[in-house]
Amino acid sequence: MTDDCIFCQIVAGEIPGRIVHETETTVAFLDANPLAPGHTLVVPKTHHETIGDMPADVARDVFAALHELVPRIESAVDADASTVGFNNGTAAGQEVPHVHGHVIPRFEGDGGGP
Ligand code: 5GP
Ligand code: ZN
Repeated sequence: MTDDCIFCQIVAGEIPGRIVHETETTVAFLDANPLAPGHTLVVPKTHHETIGDMPADVARDVFAALHELVPRIESAVDADASTVGFNNGTAAGQEVPHVHGHVIPRFEGDGGGP
């Protein structure tokens, strides 16, 4: 836990997060500023800044959580597809320095995309 990290604080229950999925090592919660209904962030419970900073077992757990969640989220919001990705590092637009995967539900003709 890193005290000044908002995602560590959500994981610890110190600030509210709308948690949609939890495993021993990961938490998924709704994005506070969603790009689409159901926009969800998946994070490891341990603090690592980037993908490369995660130990391999943690990276596997994050991907396993995505594997379980993506179809569930798509079906929950009746999406046609989803954009799944990581902004990995500040130059790529990463604003919160606790690695997180975005699951952004997509709808035919929504015109969005990274
Ligand atoms: P990044 O640009 O780092 O890839 O994405 C950070 C994401 O975290 C943004 O989509 C932003 O809306 C979301 N976010 C920032 N602060 C909070 C927060 O306190 N709670 C939640 N649920 N999401 C947050
Ligand atoms: Zn953190």
